[in-house]
Amino acid sequence: MIIILQPDADKKAPAYEKLMRHLESLPGISIRVHDEKGSEQTLTEIYLVGNTMPLISEEIEAYEAVDRVVRVSREYRVLGRHNNDLRDTHFEYNGVRFGQDNLQIFAGLCAVDKPDNVESMMKALKENGLQCTRMGAYKPRTSPYSFQGHGKDCLPYVFELAGKYDIKVISMEITHDDQIDEINEALETAGKPTGVMLQIGTRNTQNFELLKTAGRQKEFPVLLKRGFGITLEESLNAAEYLASEGNRNVIFCLRGMKTNYGDPHRNLVDFSHVPTVKTMTRMPVCIDPSHSVGSRNSSPDNIMDVFHCTAQGVIAGANMILVDFHPVPEEALVDGPQALRMGELSWFLEDVQIAREAYLKRCELQLQLAQ
Ligand code: PEP
Ligand code: MN
Repeated sequence: MIIILQPDADKKAPAYEKLMRHLESLPGISIRVHDEKGSEQTLTEIYLVGNTMPLISEEIEAYEAVDRVVRVSREYRVLGRHNNDLRDTHFEYNGVRFGQDNLQIFAGLCAVDKPDNVESMMKALKENGLQCTRMGAYKPRTSPYSFQGHGKDCLPYVFELAGKYDIKVISMEITHDDQIDEINEALETAGKPTGVMLQIGTRNTQNFELLKTAGRQKEFPVLLKRGFGITLEESLNAAEYLASEGNRNVIFCLRGMKTNYGDPHRNLVDFSHVPTVKTMTRMPVCIDPSHSVGSRNSSPDNIMDVFHCTAQGVIAGANMILVDFHPVPEEALVDGPQALRMGELSWFLEDVQIAREAYLKRCELQLQLAQ
C-alpha cells in the first residue's frame, strides 16, 4: 500500500506526526518513506510493507496529511501503475526532464571511435538544439574478436567535448559494475561538464547483480533495454530490480525482439508496446529504432525504415528516442550500416516533430470526445 501525502508535506507538522503515530502502531507493518523532489514541489510517499489486506484505505485517507491511498499489486511495486493510479511521474537529471508526458532525443554514436567523430557529432547536436546524446565506451559484442569499445580511456575527451557543446546527458552502456566507478571518476576529474545516463543493454537485462548495483547508486539515472528474447513482464521485473534497490529514475527502452519473423529488419519492431508499458508502469518509455531496424533501407516513398519506425513509436507516445548517427557510417567501428548521416539530423528532427504533433493532436481529440 502506498500513502501519498499532500504536496510539500511538513514532517514536523502535527498532522504528519499524528499519521505516523497511527502507522507505527499497525501490527506487522513496516514503513518506508520516500521523498520525490521535483522542481515545483516535493511529493512524499509512504510505503507500507507487510499484510496490508486488513487496512481500510478510507480510514487512512481521512488523515489530514494524506492526499490518497493506492493499493499496489504484487508486481512492479515501485514502478508499476496500480489500480486507479494515475500518478504523474517524472524526474529531472542535470536540468533535463524525463517523464511520460514529454520527449527527449538522444542522437549519437553507437560507439566512440575517435575524438574527431565525437566532436563532429556533438557540434551537430548543438547546431540542431539538442542537449542529449548516446556514446558507447563499453560495447558488448557478439564476437570476442570485434572492437569492444575504448572503455575508460575515451571518457576524458568525451566528457570534455560534451561540456564544450552544452550536452547535458550522455546515454552510455555499462556491462560491469566497475564501469560505474570509472564513469564517476572521469566525470569528477573533468569537473562534471556533463551528465551520464547508465544504459543497460539487452544482453544484460537480466544481469541481476549489475541491476542491483545500478539500482543502489542514485547519482545516475538508468536506461534499461528490454531483453530481446524474454517476455515483457520479465523485462519489467528487471526494471523493478533497479527501483527496489532505491533508484527510481529508470527509463524503459524498446529495441525490438530477436526473431526471424522480423526479417528483413534486424529485430521485430515492438513499438506498439509504448502505450502498454505506460499503462503497466510509470516509467518514461524510450524507443531505439536503430537497433530495431538495423539498416538504412528506404521504402518506395524514399523514407528510411528507421524514420518510419521512429514515427510509429512517437505517434504512440514515446518519451525518448535513442538513435545512431555517424559522421562517416562506412568507417564506424560498430553498427555503421544502421547509422544515419550528420546531414540527415535536421530531417530526422523535423520528421519526429510531425509525429509528436500528431500524437498531441490525438490526445486532444480523446479529451474532446471524453467531455
Ligand atoms: C546499443 O544501444 O548500442 C546496444 C548495444 O543496444 P542493445 O543492447 O539494444 O543491443
Ligand atoms: Mn549498436
